[in-house]
Parts: sequence; C-alpha cells; structure tokens
Amino acid sequence: MPPKIDLNLCNGCGRCIFDCGVYVLELDADTEKARLIGKGCVDCFLCELACPKRAVRILVGKDLGGVGGKAYAREY
Ligand code: SF4
Ligand code: SF4
Repeated sequence: MPPKIDLNLCNGCGRCIFDCGVYVLELDADTEKARLIGKGCVDCFLCELACPKRAVRILVGKDLGGVGGKAYAREY
C-alpha cells in the first residue's frame, strides 16, 4: 500500500521526499506538506523510516474489513 501521510503531523521537512527512490513524493506548494504523486510506490518503507514526526504510515498486513473502508492489521 502507498504511504498515508498525516498532514496534522507533517512539518514539511522533506526527508521522506529525499529518501524515496522512485520519486512519488513531493512537497505540496500550497500546504507545504508531503504528498503522494503517481502510482509507482514500491512499499520500501524508506519514507516512513525517514520521517521524524512519524507522519508516514505504510499499511501492510491483513485486511480486517470494516464499514465504509478498510482496516489493516499492522505487522512489525
Ligand atoms: S514506500 Fe518507498 S517507494 Fe513508496 S513512497 Fe515511501 S519511499 Fe517512496
Ligand atoms: S518526513 Fe515526515 S514531516 Fe517530513 S515532509 Fe515527510 S511526512 Fe512531512
């Protein structure tokens, strides 16, 4: 799954963007927060590891279902 970025936590430092090897993250010019662009994410976790604010989450694991969306069990 591509990363989910919590805009309430993101401070726009750009570390996730710098570390992404496939260039699918950028800094939004309006919000000055990171955002996902394109569909080339390879689930490498580098952006999540790079983020000092823990604003990035790669969702992996079992789909637990749910109403109105999907919930995922985190596997560490
Ligand atoms: S998981 Fe890897 S490929 Fe996907 S956005 Fe993050 S750094 Fe880029
Ligand atoms: S590393 Fe974290 S805080 Fe910095 S731009 Fe990316 S999501 Fe935002």
